[in-house]
Order: sequence, then structure tokens, then C-alpha cells
Amino acid sequence: MDNQKIFVTRSSMPPYEEYIEAIKPLWDSHWITNMGQYHQELEQKLKDYLDVQQISLMVNGHMALELTIQAMGFPKGAEVITTPFTFISTTHAIVRNHLKPVFCDVKPSDGTIDETKLEGLITERTVAVVPVHVYGNVCNVEEIERIADKYNLKVIYDAAHAFGVTYKGKGIGSYGDASVFSFHATKVFNTIEGGAAVFSGQWLYDKLYNLKNFGIRNEELVSEVGANAKMNEFCAIMGLCNLIHVGEAIGHRKALAREYEERLKDVHGIRMFEKKTDAESNYGYFPILVEEEYPLSRDGLYERMKKKGIYVRKYFYPLTADQRCFENRFERTKLDCARELAEKVLVLPLYESLSIQEIKRSTEIIEG
Ligand SMILES: *Cc1c(COP(=O)(O)O)cnc(C)c1O
Repeated sequence: MDNQKIFVTRSSMPPYEEYIEAIKPLWDSHWITNMGQYHQELEQKLKDYLDVQQISLMVNGHMALELTIQAMGFPKGAEVITTPFTFISTTHAIVRNHLKPVFCDVKPSDGTIDETKLEGLITERTVAVVPVHVYGNVCNVEEIERIADKYNLKVIYDAAHAFGVTYKGKGIGSYGDASVFSFHATKVFNTIEGGAAVFSGQWLYDKLYNLKNFGIRNEELVSEVGANAKMNEFCAIMGLCNLIHVGEAIGHRKALAREYEERLKDVHGIRMFEKKTDAESNYGYFPILVEEEYPLSRDGLYERMKKKGIYVRKYFYPLTADQRCFENRFERTKLDCARELAEKVLVLPLYESLSIQEIKRSTEIIEG
């Protein structure tokens, strides 16, 4: 079927019977949210899977990031160094906390924050760094830690793309003061909507518990002002079911990514990001860069693929720093490399149930 539409992603779902069977007990207990049994069970299982000490489940990845930043208690107007080459959520989470994003350029090799440019952006108002493991590409965590320690900054990783990624044999969420995952339907592992913050200290667990549950400590005591960002039991059960299959799904993605690599590695003008050799990827995305030497522009290739029913995406264009909502609000920094990547990048379809035949359809268009 050569005209069927192919989208960039397709949500992973467990076998229907498996989920239906798993949610049945909810009709006995009628306990469908408020940190129920399955919320607790998923926290335990994810702690193991992600190889982290503490986890707090949330209603989505954005609230996990927004509340984790809030939990740090930074003074209003303080500066947070971050990357503009990301989904808008990263920047929104900083701005919605009344903090000022200071955009740092990224590296052409893998799209992560350019750690060599961090120190030049630090002022006496800087309180934190929010880097992103974009496409699951691992940031230079050692150098970021060294700089953060030197200037006494917090590091909160947006690890929304990095579920299951390991670096030097450790879960990616074990780096920094905290990391945040997204379990949105489009991510490698989903709870329909959902997310989590991971970290090591008990104090942050308690703080986030308050922030995600109105600050309620018991029937009569509200100890602080909090929002509502709890994960419900239907979502937690979706997570428990998907978690059973996620290892296999990542294996499948890996084989598909290899297929793309093989077919595209010799195409003139198409470049792929570098991966760290000591990192294990989750193959969440397959971004390519359409370089000058390619016969079409990035937008030209985007249109050609769309005409043939393949809906590739310009992730991440425009840069978050260039979005209308931030126009004239923040100081402009030099973002030459990030802008260039944003102009060149296309994310190709990649999901568990994609077929080799469908990959061929895409790569044949790219080969021209
Ligand atoms: C998906 C995503 C988020 C937000 O996660 P949601 O679960 O959709 O709220 C944040 N940052 C990045 C980089 C993302 O891709």
C-alpha cells in the first residue's frame, strides 16, 4: 500500500485484553486516583527500570518539569541557562516559574547544549541550568556538573526524550539534581499522558508531593500552596502494561534505526547526529540534517515527502527562543548553531510497528 499515510510516530499500546484485565480491579475498589495502589506500584517499578533512587509520578512531563523547578525555590527573576533547541515545554516551565531563560547555543554534533559556552552566560543572577537530552542524545553531563559545582548552580535535566537511556552503565536520570521524563502518548514509554521527576533526596519527594496534591498532608492540614498534578490509576495501569513491553519495543526501534542508517549513510547531503559510544540509546526519534549539498532544501524535502503521504516533522523549528510568545522579552544571545540545526532538521517516522517496507518508502524519496 504505497499511498497510505505514515506519521512520525504512533503510540505504543499493550494488547487490549491485557489492559482490560488490569483495570478490572478498579471496579471493585472504585479508587481511581489520589495515589492509589497502581500509582505506588508504577513508582516502584519505574525506580528499578530507570535506575534512580526516587521518583514522583505526575499528570504529564510538563508539570513534572514546572513543579521540579518550582520546588527548588529560586528567587523571582533569577536566570536559568537552557537550550532553545527543544519542545516549547522546556522554556515555558522556566518562564511560568517567573524565571528568566538565558539561551545557550547547542553543538552541531548532537544538538545538546554546548557546555563550552555555558560559563560565558553565567552571571551573579544565575541559579540553574536546564539542559535537554534532545532525541535521547546524552548531554555532556560531566562537564555540566563540573561547571554547576563551581558556580553553585542546580542542574535539572529535561529527559523527556530519554526514557531508558543509560550512560556509562547508569540510568540517565541519575545525573544532575533532578531529571524529568515525559510519558506522553508520543514518547517511547507512555501512560497516555504522564510524566515523572527523578532525583535522590527525600526532601524533594515530599516537596513535589505537596506541589502535586494541593499541599494536603492530612484531612485537616494544608501545609503549603500546591497545584494538582497527580497521575490517575487508569494512566498508572497503562504504564504498568506498557512497561512489560517497552524493552522489546526499544529493541524493535533499534533494528529500524539501523535500517535507516544503512540506507541513508551514503546519501550525499544527508547527515545524522553522532551518538556517544558509552551511551545506550532508546531510539525514540530518527532526526536527519539536510545539508547544503543536498539537491533540495529541508523544506523542499519536507514537502516532497508530505506529497507522498509521509508526514515528517521539523522538530525543533523554530527555536523556542524565536517563538512569538517570547518576542522582545528576553535578551538575545548568539544561537548560530541552534538556528542552523533548526533550519536543517527533519524527524523521520520511527515507532515500534513501523515496517521495513515503510522505511524503504521514506528512504527512496530521500535518495531521490
Ligand atoms: C514531550 C516533551 C515535554 C513535555 O511532556 P508532556 O508529557 O507532553 O507534558 C517536555 N520537554 C520535551 C523536550 C518534550 O519532548
